[in-house]
Amino acid sequence: MTTALTHQDWLDRAARIEIATGLFIEGQYVSALAGETFDSVNPANGAVLAQMARGKAADIDRAVASGLAAWRDGRWAKQAPRARAEVLLQWANLVEANSEELALLETLDMGKPISDMFNIDLPEVLKTIRYFAECIDKIEGVVTHTDASALHTITHEPLGVVGAITPWNYPMLMAVWKLAPILAAGNCVVLKPAEQAPLSCTRLAQLFVDAGGPAGVFNVVNGMGTEAGKALALHMDVAKITFTGSTAVGKLLLGYAGQSNMKRVALETGGKSPQIFMPDLYDFDAAVDRAVGGIFDNAGQVCNAGSRLLVHRSIHDRFVARFIERAAALYQPGDPLDPATTLGPVVSQTQRANVMAKVQRACEQGATVALPVPGSTRPLTLPGGGAYVPMTLLTHVTQDMAIVQDETFGPVASVQAFDTEAEAIALANDSIYGLAASVWTADLKTAHRMSAALEAGVVWVNCFGDGDMTQPFGGYKQSGNSRDKHKDSLLSYLQTKSTWISLV
Ligand code: ADP
Repeated sequence: MTTALTHQDWLDRAARIEIATGLFIEGQYVSALAGETFDSVNPANGAVLAQMARGKAADIDRAVASGLAAWRDGRWAKQAPRARAEVLLQWANLVEANSEELALLETLDMGKPISDMFNIDLPEVLKTIRYFAECIDKIEGVVTHTDASALHTITHEPLGVVGAITPWNYPMLMAVWKLAPILAAGNCVVLKPAEQAPLSCTRLAQLFVDAGGPAGVFNVVNGMGTEAGKALALHMDVAKITFTGSTAVGKLLLGYAGQSNMKRVALETGGKSPQIFMPDLYDFDAAVDRAVGGIFDNAGQVCNAGSRLLVHRSIHDRFVARFIERAAALYQPGDPLDPATTLGPVVSQTQRANVMAKVQRACEQGATVALPVPGSTRPLTLPGGGAYVPMTLLTHVTQDMAIVQDETFGPVASVQAFDTEAEAIALANDSIYGLAASVWTADLKTAHRMSAALEAGVVWVNCFGDGDMTQPFGGYKQSGNSRDKHKDSLLSYLQTKSTWISLV
């Protein structure tokens, strides 16, 4: 997908855009019961875009009750699988037909470059919905080999009402990674989007209804994590919580499940992904370009961002020099509504301050800022200011520094030199996280050996961030306990039933 619209066209549309501010419950927009709101702010210029309804526990109760009623009367789960597939396919068509509006909402809301919406987010949203729609009538149960006195079947049934709590870095895409398999499996869902980017997901729910989805099957409650999110995770009628976000909140959700109804909890949490560059890598320039993209795409606000660059000492200095040169060539910071912009602000001034504080702390501990090249940056200014963080590369870091150990979620990478393969693996695995990793090498044996040794749910060899819907995405260790994408994630929103039929 591309956009033929110019910067001025997008500015004009932004000036005219109508924003739906309500929660979306039982097929319609509603105010929060207490009548409270919160501001949605454009991080590129600090402008308040809308006062969004602020859902709390009572609104979650209402949304879950709507989902439970829809679940109990079977208005979705009991439809023929193919009929549900047709609704989801039509939903994708409507998302595609409304892509300009959805792209604009998301760019205004979280500062993502509008061109990224067309190159990455929207195509991936469409692929995800269509993939899971087509999986619906391919799920099969089994008849096991038992004694002739019995017939034993194992079948798959939906869970009921599922709660989804999602982050702001890809607001629609992260939601759809959950929504598509949840709905394909026949469940009802209550979605709690991130409060930093609440504009687009209620529109997704409206389009689901427009596509023929029954009211009450897909409800959205915007609000704060500690209010709406917590209430959803504690709810006694929610069968499962699926989450993408921070490790700290993931741990809270496990606790909420224990305090309430032992609901299933599927977590995709943080990452601190290493990219290892061996001395024999066969296309040095291509590898460096991918290293640059691995940390500066989406301003580094990516769970699997390649934030730890581990480079063999023999190529380290050349790598750093090339990285600095290519970052300037490949990324154009600017107004996210300008289709030429490839680096926008981070999501908020709060997040900007967090990221800058982490860089500052690393410098106090002895790290050196190699990028921005000292003295050469032009501060990026837009009317009203913006939450921009410069592309940053830190050298002279040590393994114990927070900048190496903690998720930063901004355009900041560190680089470390290593001498041996064993040292590279030890550095890579010395992390509480294990979401993704990559190895760059020309040697097949090295590639296999290292990919087996890396403690990560996703390993890329001679690439970074590649994949399609057949790739399960999720982490080892404290990066989570579940997988998105791949048809198995549909199974994770189903439960198995054993039916043992006596034939005597
Ligand atoms: P990030 O650091 O990326 O903002 P968070 O984990 O804080 O990640 O937020 C991810 C999602 O979790 C958001 O929708 C947020 O509102 C929600 N959230 C935050 N705190 C809680 C909580 N205590 N209970 C439930 N959801 C929460």
